[in-house]
Amino acid sequence: MSTFYHSTRSRNESVTSKQAILEGIAADGGLFVRDDVALGAPALDDLLAGTFQDRARLVLGHLLDDFTADEIAGCVKAAYGPNFDSPAVTPVTPVGADWLLELWHGPTSAFKDVALQMLPQLMRVSRAGDGRRIMILTATSGDTGKAALEGFADVEGTGVSVFYPNGKVSDIQRLQMATQRGANVAVGAIEGNFDDAQSQVKRIFANRELAARLAERNVVLSSANSINVGRLVPQVTYYFDAYAQLVAAGTITKGDKLDFCVPTGNFGDVLAGYFAKLMGLPVRTLVVASNANDVLTEFIETGTYDRRRPFHKTISPSMDILVSSNLERLLFYLSDGDCELVAALMGQLADEGHYQVPSELLEKLHESFACGKADDAETRETIRAAWEDEHVLLDPHTAVAKHVLDGHARDGVERVCLSTANPYKFSADVLAALGHATEGLDGFACMDRLSELTGMEPPAQLSSLRNAEERFSDVVTVGGMTSFVEDACARLFA
Ligand SMILES: *Cc1c(COP(=O)(O)O)cnc(C)c1O
Repeated sequence: MSTFYHSTRSRNESVTSKQAILEGIAADGGLFVRDDVALGAPALDDLLAGTFQDRARLVLGHLLDDFTADEIAGCVKAAYGPNFDSPAVTPVTPVGADWLLELWHGPTSAFKDVALQMLPQLMRVSRAGDGRRIMILTATSGDTGKAALEGFADVEGTGVSVFYPNGKVSDIQRLQMATQRGANVAVGAIEGNFDDAQSQVKRIFANRELAARLAERNVVLSSANSINVGRLVPQVTYYFDAYAQLVAAGTITKGDKLDFCVPTGNFGDVLAGYFAKLMGLPVRTLVVASNANDVLTEFIETGTYDRRRPFHKTISPSMDILVSSNLERLLFYLSDGDCELVAALMGQLADEGHYQVPSELLEKLHESFACGKADDAETRETIRAAWEDEHVLLDPHTAVAKHVLDGHARDGVERVCLSTANPYKFSADVLAALGHATEGLDGFACMDRLSELTGMEPPAQLSSLRNAEERFSDVVTVGGMTSFVEDACARLFA
C-alpha cells in the first residue's frame, strides 16, 4: 500500500510519490507532503546497519513507498557509486571538538549532488511507460543549477533549463554552468537576484496557457529545486549516516542525542534533518545557520517571517535567500497538518510580505530548532581560524555554520556541522579570508594560490574548467524567462 502525498495548502489532491516527483509543486502552489513521516519507519537498528547505500534504500523505500524495492535499489546503485570520490559518500571528519559531515564529494563539489544524482533516477522510474517528456526548470543561487545540469545531462526524455542571477555567483560556479556538456541543457543568466528568478519560475509553473502549449508537444514542466519531494528525501539519508559513522567510531553510543548545525538557504537541507528526527534519529537540536540574509534567524527567534528587508550579496551566495521555500513544509508539520493555516500564512506572505505564526507553533519549533548567524567578516575569521588552528579548510557556507555552532552551548552533546561545499568552489573568497591578496587574480589563479598555500589539491572537475569551452552566454530579463523556457522546449525536444 502506498502513502499518498498532498499539498501543504489543501488535501483536495492526493498523489503517489511518483506523481509528486514528476509534478514538483502542487496545483494550488503548495508543496507536496505526506501526513505522517514516522508511520511505518524502519527501526533505528536497521537504519544504522550497513553502508550509506543500505541506508539510502531504507530511507527512500520508506518515504517513497510506491517505488518497488528493485526500483529503489536500481536508483541507489546508479546515484551513489564512483561518481562520488569517497567510498563513504558523505564522510564525517573532525574539526576541533566537533565533526564535519562532508557532503561535497560528488561531481559538482557541493552537497546538492547527494540529491541531484538521485532525482533524475527517481524521475526516470516515475515516468516509465509515460511518453511525456520532462523539462526540468531550476532557479539557482549557484550550486543547484550545476548539480541539476550534471544530474540530468543526456538523461533520456528529459531536458534542463537553469537560471542563475547574473553577477551573483562565483567565477567558478558561472563557468561550471556555462561549460555544461549535454544535448538537453539550457542555461540563462537573469537580470535580477535569486528570489526574482525563483518567483518567476513559480509563475511559469502556474502558467496554464504555457502548460497547454507544451502539452501539445508532449512536454511537462517539473522542478529540480529543493521543493521537489525527490530532492528532499535523499537528503534524509546522510543524517542517519553521520550518526552511524559516529557510533561505529565509538564517539557516541546508540541512543545518544546529536546536534546538527546546518548552513541554510531554502531550508531543504535542515528540513531533511527534521524528517530524520521524526523518523526516530536521536537528534537534540537542529541549529539553523544564516548569513547576513537573516530572515530565518529572526523567524526562529520571534515567530515573525518578514521578507521586506534589503537583500545582501554575501560570500556564501547559496544562502542569499529571502523566501525560504521549504519552511512551508515545516509549518505544515509543526501545525499538525493544518493546511488552512499554512495556506493563510503563505497568502499573507505573497500579498503583504510577512506573517506571524501562532505562539503554540513557535513553542513547538523551539523544541527542535535553534538558530544563529554570521556576517561576512565573521565568516572570514572562521575560515582563517579553522585553517590556522585545525588545518581544516572550510568553504564560506560551512564557515557560517561553524561560526554559529561555536556560539552554541555543547552541554556534553556531540555536534555535527554540515559541510556543504568544497572550499575550492569559492577559491577567491577563501584565499582572501586567509589574508592573501586576490586583486587581479581570476578564479583559477586563486585556486592555484590556495593549493600552494595549503598543499591540498583542488578537485579535478574544478581545475579542468580552465580548458573547457563556454557554451552558454545568454542574459535574460525576468520577464523573458517564460519564452526562454518555451524556446528551449522547442529546440531540445524538436
Ligand atoms: C544550497 C546550499 C546551501 C543551502 O541549502 P538549503 O537546502 O537551500 O537550505 C548551503 N550551502 C551550499 C554550499 C549550498 O549549495
